[in-house]
Amino acid sequence: MNANTTEFYINGQWVAPLNGHTRPLINPATEQQYATVAMGDTGDVDAAVDAAKGAFSSWSKTPVAERMALFERIIGGYKKRFAEIAQAITQEMGAPASLSQSAQAAMGLGHFAATLNVLKNFAFSQRQGTTEIRKEPIGVVGLITPWNWPMNQVICKVAPALAAGCTIVLKPSQDASLSAALLAEILHEAGVPAGVFNVIQGAGAKIGDYMSRHADIDMISFTGSTQAGTQVAKAAADTVKRVALELGGKSANIILDDADITRSVTNGIKAVFANSGQTCTAPTRMLVPNSLLPQALAVAKAVGEASIKAVGDPTSDKTGIGPVAHQRQFEKIQEMIAKGIDEGATLLCGGLGKPAGLETGYYVKPTIFSDVTNDMTIAREEIFGPVLVIIGYEDDADAVRIANDSPYGLSGYVSGTDVDRVRLVASQMRTGMVHLNDAKPDLQAPFGGYKQSGNGREWGEYGLEDFLEVKSVLGWHNDAE
Ligand code: NAD
Repeated sequence: MNANTTEFYINGQWVAPLNGHTRPLINPATEQQYATVAMGDTGDVDAAVDAAKGAFSSWSKTPVAERMALFERIIGGYKKRFAEIAQAITQEMGAPASLSQSAQAAMGLGHFAATLNVLKNFAFSQRQGTTEIRKEPIGVVGLITPWNWPMNQVICKVAPALAAGCTIVLKPSQDASLSAALLAEILHEAGVPAGVFNVIQGAGAKIGDYMSRHADIDMISFTGSTQAGTQVAKAAADTVKRVALELGGKSANIILDDADITRSVTNGIKAVFANSGQTCTAPTRMLVPNSLLPQALAVAKAVGEASIKAVGDPTSDKTGIGPVAHQRQFEKIQEMIAKGIDEGATLLCGGLGKPAGLETGYYVKPTIFSDVTNDMTIAREEIFGPVLVIIGYEDDADAVRIANDSPYGLSGYVSGTDVDRVRLVASQMRTGMVHLNDAKPDLQAPFGGYKQSGNGREWGEYGLEDFLEVKSVLGWHNDAE
C-alpha cells in the first residue's frame, strides 16, 4: 500500500517534516513493519495552521454550490480508490477485509454523501423580526482522531468542516496514518484549494496538545479516549476555543423479558465482537432479566465459542474477527480479562492468551463474562476489545438504574416485543443515542454522548452545526419588508 506517511500535506503540497523523527507502522496481523510515519513537531503545526489561516478568508466565502460541486468530485475520487482505502484500513488496524469494505471504508463515503445532502437544504441564515441570524464558519479547526474507525472518524469531521466553510488541520492517530494520507491525496485530486485541508502526523501528547493550545485554532474537534479528551479541554481553556469531544463508552444493552432471547443475545454478542470490540458504541454491558439468565447464558456460551473460530487473518474473506490494533491494546485487554477473573466474574468463554494457532499477531480470544456486578472494573471501564459482560437485573426499573450507573453515556440498546415498553425504557436512558431492536446506524441522525462520553454531536445536520458560529445582525431587515 503506497501512501505518503513520511511527509505532511500542508498548503496543497507534500512537505518534509521539520525534524527527522519517525515511528514504525506495524501491521497488527503480522507484527511486521510495513512503513514509517513522520512524527511532527510544533513547527509543523505552526506551518499547517498558517496555511489554514491564510486560506480561510477565501474558502469561508465560497458559494454553497461551489462546495457542493467539490463534494461531488471528492465522492467520485473516493469511489475510485475505495478498494485501496479498505486495504489500508485492514493493514493499519486489522479490521477484517469484509468489514473494511462494507462498513469502515463505506462509512467515510456515507458521510461525504450525507453532508452533501445536508448542504442542499441547509439554511445558513434566517430572519427573526428585523434581525438576521446567520451561521458562519467558526474558522480554523483542529481535528484529532483515533484509529478504530479511522476513515469514518476523520470524514465525519472533515466533511462538515469543509461544508461549513472552515479550514482544517487534521492530526489523525499515529496508528492510522495511512488512510489519512490517502484521504489527503483524494482531496488534492478533487481540487480542494491549497491551505483548506492540511494533514500533520505525530504524537497526541506533543502536537495534539500544541494544537489544543494554539491561539490561531478556533475549534478542536476531538474523538478518542475520555482521558485524552479531558487533557484537550484543559489545554484549550486558555484560548476559549470551542471544544467538541467524542469520547469513550460502556454502553448497556437491555434485553427485556418479552424479547426474543436467542436473537437479542446473539446480535448483542456480534455487535461487541465486530471490529474486535474496538467500537466506542459497542454494547459491552448486556443486561438480562434474572429469570431468563440460564437461557441467555446458554445462548451466549454457544455463540461465544463459535466466535473464537471466526478469529483470523483479516485479509481473508472468511475472517469475521481480526486482531486488535496494536500491542498496547492487546496488553490492556489481557489486563482487563485478568482483572475480571480476579474480581470473581465467571468466564463463559474466551479468556487470557491468544487463540490456538494465532500466536503471531495481536489476536484476542473473544471473551464473555457472567456473574458480573455493575461495580466490577470490567463493568465500569471501557476495555475496547472483544469482551462482553453479562449482568442480571430484577425488573425494568432495575435495568434502567444499572444502565445509567456509569460514568459514560454514549449509547444504549433496548430489545423487546412491546414497543411502548421498549420506548419507555429508552426514554429513561441517559445516553446520546439509543438503538431499539437492532436498529441500524443512521448517518443523518446526531451521533454523540452524554456525561463523560463527550459533548459534541457529529453526523448529518447536527454535525454541520458543530462547525458554525451564530451571528445576530440586528436591524438587517426593515419592519416594512
Ligand atoms: P486516544 O485518546 O489515545 O487518542 C485519540 C487521538 O488523540 C489520537 O490522535 C492521539 O494521538 C490524540 N491524543 C492523545 N493524547 C492527546 C493529548 N493529550 N492532547 C491531544 N491529543 C491527544 O484514543 P485511541 O486509543 O486512539 O482511540 C480509542 C478511544 O477513542 C476509545 O476510548 C474510544 O471509545 C474512543 N472513541 C470515541 C468515539 C466517539 O465518537 N465517541 C469514536 C471512536 C473512538
